[in-house]
Amino acid sequence: MPERIFNFSPGPSILPYPVLQQAARDIVNFNDKGIGLIELSHRSKEFMAVADETESLIRQNLHVPDNYKVLFLQGGASSQFYMIPMNLLGNGKKATYLNTGTWSNKAIKEARLFGEIDVAYSSENSKFNRVPENNGYSVSPDSEYLYFVSNNTIYGTQYQSFPEKDSVLISDMSSDICSRPVDISKFGLIFAGAQKNMGPAGVTVVIIREDLLNNTPDNVPTMLRYSTHADKGSMFNTPPCFAIYCVGQVMKWLKENGGVEEISKINEDKASLLYNAIDSTDFYKGHAELQSRSRMNVSFNLPTPEHEAQFIAEATSVGLDGLKGHRSIGGCRASIYNAFPKEGVEKLVQFMEEFAKANG
Ligand code: PMP
Repeated sequence: MPERIFNFSPGPSILPYPVLQQAARDIVNFNDKGIGLIELSHRSKEFMAVADETESLIRQNLHVPDNYKVLFLQGGASSQFYMIPMNLLGNGKKATYLNTGTWSNKAIKEARLFGEIDVAYSSENSKFNRVPENNGYSVSPDSEYLYFVSNNTIYGTQYQSFPEKDSVLISDMSSDICSRPVDISKFGLIFAGAQKNMGPAGVTVVIIREDLLNNTPDNVPTMLRYSTHADKGSMFNTPPCFAIYCVGQVMKWLKENGGVEEISKINEDKASLLYNAIDSTDFYKGHAELQSRSRMNVSFNLPTPEHEAQFIAEATSVGLDGLKGHRSIGGCRASIYNAFPKEGVEKLVQFMEEFAKANG
């Protein structure tokens, strides 16, 4: 194996190395069939088997109940910002959103094109450094659904437990899907762009309860109706074949490594190493409030922007890559998704200690 750097990128992000190796072989010659994976017809028996296996592994890893469909869609997670209200909000209907950062803000903007949107909670005034507690807001009974972002990739906040409200729960889990156990039966719909914990960019996984497939208003275009894709097993048109294949490989890797339950413990361990390093000196300051801290994206600041620029440059030079924070909040961010190895976190922690000593 060539020497690999530690990739802290927020997404697209690190993938398990064995998955990359297998994909490289299969692109050229899939299952020794003398044809490359991305040359296969999406309707060939070989590719249908790939798609079926990917779906089955997602179902196993996330314990998806039988009354839910798993869909492979395109247009990025951002397309769900309008597909959800288009399909679930008819004229004059209402939905509730919790605003915990950039991605919920964008979803709210899109949803307002289709119905009345109640923003029941916002942490915008504190630079999105927290998520709400269950009793921190209320949901109106005539709301069709309650929408929230389970992990805020940019700000490094994450719901430690999910909202318990008498409403259809919808969650954008793009940056923490498969990182911890989730009781899918509590949700109406969850979705995730694959490019963090599931695979490469190009496919968005939507898990939707079947009874929600039938409420779409008549004027919604065919391609934007969930039922179109559910009825045809995500094969209504050409799906993103390569991305689906990769998600299958990542799901296989996850299953072989003990599934979501095991990876969740490792994620907890990696995140606490990093938060301990932040908390053990005044030199670093975490962005998120303690009870809202994300185990996937750790956002932090140094005393000055100059320190941060120097920190990122020196870290990059020793193979700790992708630590620059999002342009909207600056500072640093370490994204430590499922495939990110603990050794990389240990190396970062050591680097942080040395940097603080030399510059603090
Ligand atoms: N939701 C969350 C939580 C994200 O982190 C991102 C992208 N990083 C998106 C949505 C948007 O995803 P996409 O670029 O696939 O539209």
